[in-house]
Amino acid sequence: MTERPHLAAIGAGPAGLAATMAAASSGVRVTLIDSAPQAGGQFYRQPAAELRARRPQALHHQWGTWERLRDALAEGMEAGQVTHLTDHHVWLVEGQSGHFTVHALLGPEQEEAAAVVHADAVLLATGGYEKVLPFPGWTLPGVITAGGAQAMLKGTLAVSGHTAVVAGTGPLLLPVATGLAAAGVKVAALVESAQPMDFVRRTRALAAQPGKVGEGARYAAQLLRHRVRTLVHHTVVEAHGTERLEAVTVAALDRAGRVRRGTERRIPCDTLAVGHGMLPHTDLAETLGCRLDGPNVHVDAEQRTDVPGVWAAGETTGIGGAALALAEGHIAGYSAAARLNGAEPDPRAWAAAAKSRSSLREFFAALDTVYAPPAHWAEQVTDDTVVCRCEEVTGGAIREAVTDLGAGDLRTVKLLTRAGMGWCQGRVCGPAVAGLAGCAQAPGRRPFARPVPLGVLARAGEPEAE
Ligand SMILES: Cc1cc2nc3c(=O)[nH]c(=O)nc-3n(C[C@H](O)[C@H](O)[C@H](O)COP(=O)(O)OP(=O)(O)OC[C@H]3O[C@@H](n4cnc5c(N)ncnc54)[C@H](O)[C@@H]3O)c2cc1C
Repeated sequence: MTERPHLAAIGAGPAGLAATMAAASSGVRVTLIDSAPQAGGQFYRQPAAELRARRPQALHHQWGTWERLRDALAEGMEAGQVTHLTDHHVWLVEGQSGHFTVHALLGPEQEEAAAVVHADAVLLATGGYEKVLPFPGWTLPGVITAGGAQAMLKGTLAVSGHTAVVAGTGPLLLPVATGLAAAGVKVAALVESAQPMDFVRRTRALAAQPGKVGEGARYAAQLLRHRVRTLVHHTVVEAHGTERLEAVTVAALDRAGRVRRGTERRIPCDTLAVGHGMLPHTDLAETLGCRLDGPNVHVDAEQRTDVPGVWAAGETTGIGGAALALAEGHIAGYSAAARLNGAEPDPRAWAAAAKSRSSLREFFAALDTVYAPPAHWAEQVTDDTVVCRCEEVTGGAIREAVTDLGAGDLRTVKLLTRAGMGWCQGRVCGPAVAGLAGCAQAPGRRPFARPVPLGVLARAGEPEAE
């Protein structure tokens, strides 16, 4: 055992890696814990080693930054400053400043084996996940999430079909459409429900991030090169097929966000990659009692949550991309290290990161006002459309719970219909059920971040062997 203070960093994406490097370089011992088999998170997701990818950088942006992070992690591990636990799925963090216990399930199947890490402080860098709203046919094989298509491509070098439509809303659709096209998939259309020109008018946010403007222009050029038809202010109204996806119907939206009747057109495809934005992972923070600001974990200028000893960085504190995650992780790591070493942090150590954090936050706040699902998306959900996939609850059952049975909040809808009671515990269907029922989306308040086998739960309460 070492006397050095110990930080448990959960999440090895850009935020967790940047925090690990900053804390380790300041003399703190770091255990970096992640459910994935390799470091990188979503943005720097790496192909499985056994695939022996010859040019993994072909699927990535900012490869140089990844190489620096990867090499620094290897050096930190070699020097004994950093321990990297892969395939560890954290289901609970408990304790208080100076005495935290991190509980994880092991292996890709999250079988019964469990691990426990003790630490003086915790950094939550668990990122975000995709929001997908239902529409008729969305449960057909061949309909996948936009990020899922990207993760499959980066992690397994595989594509899910020959002809794809990429649809929904948000900037993530751009790397997905261009990535699939570059991998040889015919991208029949990119269907964006927002009006990106509205964003171009936000000159102040754009002027502060010239790099992002260049990134957008590069994506536009790639779409042109691959002849991807881009339909803005359009939405997918239905996915068709018997055994699996065969086509989608897309339609234009009016200014109010309603489908303009008569504009429907059918596009043959075997893959629909669809996403309606991202949501932060907040389960671990909520169990620890951290305050949320809307859907995000609340943090101060040092990336501290309001629970002493708990820092948070990256998309768990708000959706904002990899560069913002890096800046926040850097600040969190330096702050945590200084405080664990008993010193008052010197903000000059992260002045550049703080500057980039504030302009990136401003940029993504502006983006957020433009990229949103169509206001009247729920009108496309027919009564027989499955909304909660785990419990197979339809749109009709949710409407009935509200109109006939008087449910006025998400919890009552759940009790009356079982929507949100299954494996995902409402993480996937929560926004859809709230939208259909016309209720506010309350925090999930799930005691555990992952489904936990009963045997593991029973043993978690037993005293640990010496
Ligand atoms: C599926 C998907 C694909 C994406 N693809 C792109 C893309 O191609 N281009 C782009 O610009 N942006 C992409 N994004 C957005 C991108 O994730 C962020 O911009 C960036 O990676 C955020 O960094 P982060 O460190 O906050 O989180 P992440 O990179 O998401 O890293 C979080 C890490 O935490 C781990 N984790 C989460 N919960 C637990 C837990 N309970 N126990 C253990 N480990 C846990 C995850 O395995 C992950 O490695 C994608 C997002 C998603 C969800």
